[in-house]
Amino acid sequence: MKTCLNKKCLGNIKLLYDYGESNYNFNDINFDCTTNSYLKPKIYICEKCKLKFSEFATNIPKSNVENKYNIIVDDIYISEISHKEKYFLSLYKKISHCFDKRKTVLEIGSYYGVFGNIIKPNVKSYSGLELSAHGSDYAKNNYELEIFNETIKEHAKKNVKYDVIVMTDVIEHFPDPFEALELIEKILNTDGLLIFTTFNMDSLYAKITGRNYHWILPFHLFYFSNKTLKKLCLENNLEIFKIKNDPRIVSFFYLLNKLELIFPKFKFIFKIAKKIKILHHININVNLFDLNIYYAKKKPKF
Ligand SMILES: [Zn+2]
Repeated sequence: MKTCLNKKCLGNIKLLYDYGESNYNFNDINFDCTTNSYLKPKIYICEKCKLKFSEFATNIPKSNVENKYNIIVDDIYISEISHKEKYFLSLYKKISHCFDKRKTVLEIGSYYGVFGNIIKPNVKSYSGLELSAHGSDYAKNNYELEIFNETIKEHAKKNVKYDVIVMTDVIEHFPDPFEALELIEKILNTDGLLIFTTFNMDSLYAKITGRNYHWILPFHLFYFSNKTLKKLCLENNLEIFKIKNDPRIVSFFYLLNKLELIFPKFKFIFKIAKKIKILHHININVNLFDLNIYYAKKKPKF
């Protein structure tokens, strides 16, 4: 029997959600964050620490996952940028008290640079890490951001430290979140802050929808809860001291795409609705109370 992927736990794992015999190949999976793939991977749970992860977290080499992100070209995301800006502005307002002109900031997974463009004018310096070459170039060319097209491990070798590290919807994509948190702690200044967003598997909505929860997707490798995140952070000398709900602003078009995936039987209705041009400009506030902002600080070492 396989054991928990967290080497500090090594509890027994069992299959939690099985979607029957899936014959899809990891290499065929689209890793764009706006992908329309509906295939769900098998989900495992550690009986000891309750951490959940996908079959791909157990059997795909890390470099394969990183290569997947290198080649991403996400045109749907680019066409949705005005809606993303609205969401990131609302997110920035919520966490703005953590930034000021003395702070050096690193965003891990800066993607197309939308959030970086909002953060940069308010801080001493902004840098982004992004594996997608297309995303990095877009952020450099359109927003004049400093983006490093490299992994956290490569970046940590430069021995640069930051006051604030931000990750929006990134931690669930990491092939090795244990190593990532260890490295993040190393490149965070003594009074540094880590602010990140992800979905909570212990939220009511995730529990009610269970195996059909819409964030169970092939490119999400780890499925955290407030509890597993707190434990994982503590193991890496980081303390989560605040958790806030994070409602999203999406376009009506994006919502129709998601609904089409969740309710394939009613596909024809969503297809017709998508043809109505005026609906594309409408923003919808979505709050299922399953998405959170986590604030963690470095624990003082005595
Ligand atoms: Zn475990």
